[in-house]
Amino acid sequence: MKKPTKKSKETIAKLKAQLDDVSNKLAGEQEKSRQLEHIIASMPGHIYWMDKDGRILGCNDEQARNVGFSSRLDMIGKTIHDFQPKEKADKILANNNEIMSLGLSKVIEETGNLVDGNEKTFLSHKAPLRDEKNNIIGVLGISTDITAHKNNEFTLENIIALMPGHVYWQNKDGVILGCNDEQAKNLGLKSRSYIVGKTIYDLQPKEQANHLQIINYKVIQTGEAQIAEEVSTLANGQTKTFLSQKVPLQSKNGDVIGLVGISVDITARKEMEEALRFAKERAEITNNIKSAFIKNMQHDIRTPLSGLWGMADILERKIKDTTLSDYINNIKLCTTELLNFCDSILDFTNIEHGNQLLLFRKFDNRALIMKIASLEEPAAKSKGLNLILDYPKAVPEILIGDEFRIYRILLNLVSNAIKFTEKGYVKVSVKKLKSDKEKREIIFQFVIKDTGIGIPKDKQTYIFEKFSRLSPSNRVKYKGLGLGLRIVKEFVNDLNGDIKVSSKVKVGSAFICTIPFKLP
Ligand code: ADP
Repeated sequence: MKKPTKKSKETIAKLKAQLDDVSNKLAGEQEKSRQLEHIIASMPGHIYWMDKDGRILGCNDEQARNVGFSSRLDMIGKTIHDFQPKEKADKILANNNEIMSLGLSKVIEETGNLVDGNEKTFLSHKAPLRDEKNNIIGVLGISTDITAHKNNEFTLENIIALMPGHVYWQNKDGVILGCNDEQAKNLGLKSRSYIVGKTIYDLQPKEQANHLQIINYKVIQTGEAQIAEEVSTLANGQTKTFLSQKVPLQSKNGDVIGLVGISVDITARKEMEEALRFAKERAEITNNIKSAFIKNMQHDIRTPLSGLWGMADILERKIKDTTLSDYINNIKLCTTELLNFCDSILDFTNIEHGNQLLLFRKFDNRALIMKIASLEEPAAKSKGLNLILDYPKAVPEILIGDEFRIYRILLNLVSNAIKFTEKGYVKVSVKKLKSDKEKREIIFQFVIKDTGIGIPKDKQTYIFEKFSRLSPSNRVKYKGLGLGLRIVKEFVNDLNGDIKVSSKVKVGSAFICTIPFKLP
């Protein structure tokens, strides 16, 4: 045997290397194709590819399992007719033929039977299957089960049938053409279709039918929607109240051809409203009795108190002894306090009941302020406070307005200013903000300023609420109901005015009231 030359050795080694390379590549390709097969096999939905005669060339596991094969390999070579009833198989083949002859992919709805005999609807995406030379050799498809979606009850008819409340429609002669399930059930009908052809007189007592007819007639005649409360009797004999909304049904050319209505049972709500109304009436009666009692009591307390104040005033003027005069002055202060207390309660009950009538009359504004000053002067004096009035001559005095409200507003503000000030002064200023001579209108600004304890910024809105008092220590030191500013605010609003407060703790407060008046 001839000994291999060095060259032939090299050639053999080269060939061997090439062989290894090819076999490695082959192994890689095989691995890839195994992976691909595995992916296709486990994909969801039905995946298949078949030849021109409907013979299966391959499929995924789900497809094989669903038509009764234990593995996808068992399915290869079977035709559609082997696992589908003839009619369905023929249809599927016809679909395949269409795709192959068109050479285009298509989405088709197809039906097929599963191994358990259940018929299913599929949405099939099918495309022509081609060989390497691009010749069509069959069909490739992916089918998704859409049976649940197809059987879905979300059709317009079903939605209307299942709607809550009573839904119904009728022609313009009052012949009912349809309704929802709840309406049919409540009328004791076997199904919705039993209502067709009936009129309201077949379903309701005559009197109620007459009433229902009036509203239906109105919708047909006017062509406008109507909302009404209606009473109907149900099959179980119960009478219910409904809130009905009815709209005209129009033909294409705009003629009213009937109506459609929705009626919602509001019986429970009506009963609740009735119970509430009854409770409210009772509460009002009780409240009125309470108010009358407070008014009487206030009158009964106020009369002797006024007498007491009057007598103390006479005594004060007659007695020369300063100590005794001081005592009497104290009696007057206490009596005034009690009188103010009574007045606040009366004002408040009047506001709560809307009893305080607005009365616009001519009055002397300067005289009114002087009266308040003289009433409050003793209190200011006893605390050593200066009560200053600033009513410039040029500011009109005779005005038309609700004197009572102005009096109560200013009295409350001035007495508060004195109450919450320990030293310094309380000043009442009156200013004309603007006037319109033609309309005989004038806007006044009243400022009640003090050098008292002040009000923290975050409490300056709160103090206008009823029964609002600031600190507990105030409660001990300064008497009061927490009603004064609430009354002031209500009265200012009644007069279309405005009230603001500007205050600094331990420096003082200013209540600024802007109120419009008429000039006589
Ligand atoms: P009352 O004076 O009866 O307590 P008001 O409604 O008149 O009730 O006032 C509510 C609260 O507002 C008072 O308790 C007080 O704390 C505060 N307040 C009112 N006016 C003044 C003022 N001029 N200076 C300081 N605090 C005031």
